[in-house]
Amino acid sequence: MSMPEPQPEPGREQPRLDPWGSTVIDYSKVFTEFGISRFEELLPRVKEPHLYMRRRIIMGHRDYELILDAMERRRPFAVMSGFMPSGKLHLGGKMVMDEIIWHQRMGAAAFVSIADMEAHAVRGISWRECKEIGVSEYVLSLIALGFDPHRGFIYFQSENRMLHDLAFELGCEVNIGEMSAVYGFSGDVNVSKCVSVLMQSADILQPQLAAFGGPKPTVIPVGFDQDPHIRLTRDIASRARLFTVELVKREKDEYECVRVRAKTRDAASALKEVSSRLGGEKRAYEMHVDVYGEPFEEVERVVREAEIELGGYGFYPPAATFHRFMRGLGGGKMSSSKPESYIALTEPPEEAAAKVMNAKTGGRATLEEQRRLGGVPEECIVYELLMFHLIEDDRHVAEIYEECISGRRTCAACKKAAAELMHSFLKEHQERREEAKNVLKELDVGKKWLEVVKF
Ligand code: SF4
Repeated sequence: MSMPEPQPEPGREQPRLDPWGSTVIDYSKVFTEFGISRFEELLPRVKEPHLYMRRRIIMGHRDYELILDAMERRRPFAVMSGFMPSGKLHLGGKMVMDEIIWHQRMGAAAFVSIADMEAHAVRGISWRECKEIGVSEYVLSLIALGFDPHRGFIYFQSENRMLHDLAFELGCEVNIGEMSAVYGFSGDVNVSKCVSVLMQSADILQPQLAAFGGPKPTVIPVGFDQDPHIRLTRDIASRARLFTVELVKREKDEYECVRVRAKTRDAASALKEVSSRLGGEKRAYEMHVDVYGEPFEEVERVVREAEIELGGYGFYPPAATFHRFMRGLGGGKMSSSKPESYIALTEPPEEAAAKVMNAKTGGRATLEEQRRLGGVPEECIVYELLMFHLIEDDRHVAEIYEECISGRRTCAACKKAAAELMHSFLKEHQERREEAKNVLKELDVGKKWLEVVKF
């Protein structure tokens, strides 16, 4: 039996035929106003892209070319992100973990911060509770999802002395006025909140410290709301450099060189040190040296090396990927203070399945309308769960999309299938969490953390 073609509802646009599209939130502003680049332009360069990349869930990036270059040339690179241990780990947090794990599999040195200092300063959570939540909600699920702790570094901010020292140093590069502009801090903000901001910047730049092999491109997978923090940390990273390296072009007289500027107090001797290491023709000035006939990349490499020997950091600006948000189960914002809006990775699978059955769909008021008009997957949370988390095969998701918009799929059957998938995913994940406890016992630091956790 052939199905009738779906007809657009009066006053409503025909759904776009795009299984990975989102009509709910307009993200175009972040590209035009904030200078975030579109990730899909880089997609052809990504080997074995993660489903978030293939399905345009990761929509934006800053400087991800640095990461791709490192992957292609088999050079060191890192991935890092942090989690504030203030509540349950839900599917939104799982997205960040999935991205960390994918990059670790692609060869990245992987860093995960449990931001207990932030949770203590911002939410007033006790240190003990931070540890309990950090391990039981976050560390165990991270390992259960596939993070290899033997090749990665998971730490609590409060226990990481190297991080504290770095945060202190970075604090010299930013003032309270700038922080207030970024975070909306007013005069009555407590100072520890400002410190916790510096700790996050230190989290991001720590993979580039000498103790971890020195400067390297580092990607931070985040949601779009974290961009102000990424921008601030990129600024801090650049201010902490002893040198800047820029390409100078003057089209008129076809003049081109690489300009190295020193930002240190003793600029003359710093520039002398750099010049002695650089090839090509050099012209020295009071605060900079122009280098001719050397590739930009080579000059950058040599300058970075010299900077480290002079006691600097040589930071690369941190790169970032930005994913779009999952919505709450009712269609609004997912909020940790509203358990009905999210599915936690530790909640009983039966309860999670029941939540899926009650989630908002993009279905029509009656079965007859659904058959005639088709559903609207772009408005459907069940579809979002399937596309973001429950189905690996792109063709299968595209089929569901097509069946939905053509009216061949009913919401009742669709929700039931999604609920079953969610049940199996959580059951399996929770079994893996049990195995992760054994993995944690094998790690020195893990044993220490497990001692304070009540299971
Ligand atoms: Fe959503 Fe499935 Fe209903 Fe389509 S058929 S609106 S994908 S629940």
